[in-house]
Amino acid sequence: MGKLFLIVSEHRDGKVRQVTLEALQAARTASKDGDRISVVLIGSELDSIIIQLLSYPISEIRLIDHDSLKHYNPEAYMAALTPLLNSLRPDAVFTGHTALGRDLAPALAAKLHAGQLSDVISLEGSGEETVFTRPVYAGKAFEKKQFQSFPWVVTVRPNNFPIIEPSSSGQQAQIIIEDYAPPAYLRTIVKDVVRKTTGKVDLTEAKIIISGGRGVKSADGFKPLEELANLLGGAVGASRGACDSGYCNYALQIGQTGKVVTPEIYIACGISGAIQHLAGMSQSRIIIAINKDREAPIFKVADYGIVGDLFEVVPLLTQEFRKALA
Ligand code: FAD
Repeated sequence: MGKLFLIVSEHRDGKVRQVTLEALQAARTASKDGDRISVVLIGSELDSIIIQLLSYPISEIRLIDHDSLKHYNPEAYMAALTPLLNSLRPDAVFTGHTALGRDLAPALAAKLHAGQLSDVISLEGSGEETVFTRPVYAGKAFEKKQFQSFPWVVTVRPNNFPIIEPSSSGQQAQIIIEDYAPPAYLRTIVKDVVRKTTGKVDLTEAKIIISGGRGVKSADGFKPLEELANLLGGAVGASRGACDSGYCNYALQIGQTGKVVTPEIYIACGISGAIQHLAGMSQSRIIIAINKDREAPIFKVADYGIVGDLFEVVPLLTQEFRKALA
């Protein structure tokens, strides 16, 4: 009998998160003919999310829809998932290496007595032969790992797997509604989540990131970066130097103690390139550095370097991109 691959779906602002579609692709790559792919969708008011998922090649969607599950709460999510895990006994669970995925994966692995691999950026082969690659030592090396046996729990780093293509067969997934009532033993209830950033593009999933460091010199100094990011449909990030100086919110921090990002293009403006910053962005496909100091370490990892004042260079780039995009 085929194996069951279960994807824990994530959504935000009424949309399936891109990393869920990447986790789906990763699971499909690791699965073999005859294996089934099931998606579990947890939250409240999920109708529009189901419609989005229906266009993908999934065997079934397991729906756990309850008002109390609107916001992520590890205890409540595990309470919702446990009966499903007990009845389905999935052979593999895939989810995004996001705040939610990182929090949930160890609990899932413990519940299933599964091996766990986090922050996977690629995989080769399928079934028992699947070999997973993940960065170690803050991205300075990569390790290749294989599970000795099923079940597995895997988290995939955003922006590293292609997004799964919608199904061409037109065959739609079966929707199975799961019962859920919040158990009395829940110790906490998440009443509301207040977002600190208003960015339109999620930093961890952005294809283009314009990042500012201490060199931006003030909160106002981020404005030219925001303008360029808006023009290119990207997101604004920051070094800890900029966050510590009070120029921006810590939600923007990229690095060892901030977010790990892998965009197509990362433009570092006024960032020196400390090892802790590189830990969060060195896997970006193309790195462009703008710095006044030609000796700045960021130039060692940059594909393109511009030695100059960011307050001159960034507006010029915006002007030229605007012309090119017109
Ligand atoms: P600086 O090092 O001060 O560099 C500013 C740069 O701007 C300089 O290179 C300068 O030449 C350039 N510049 C100035 N003016 C201009 C201008 N007008 N135009 C162009 N260039 C200009 N850091 C992170 O980023 N992320 C982390 O997650 C992180 N975690 C850490 C964890 C630990 C345990 C520790 C100890 C440190 C951590 N740090 C982290 C801090 C890190 O070591 C650096 O201090 C920080 O990254 C420096 O930020 P910066 O490059 O913006 O500032």
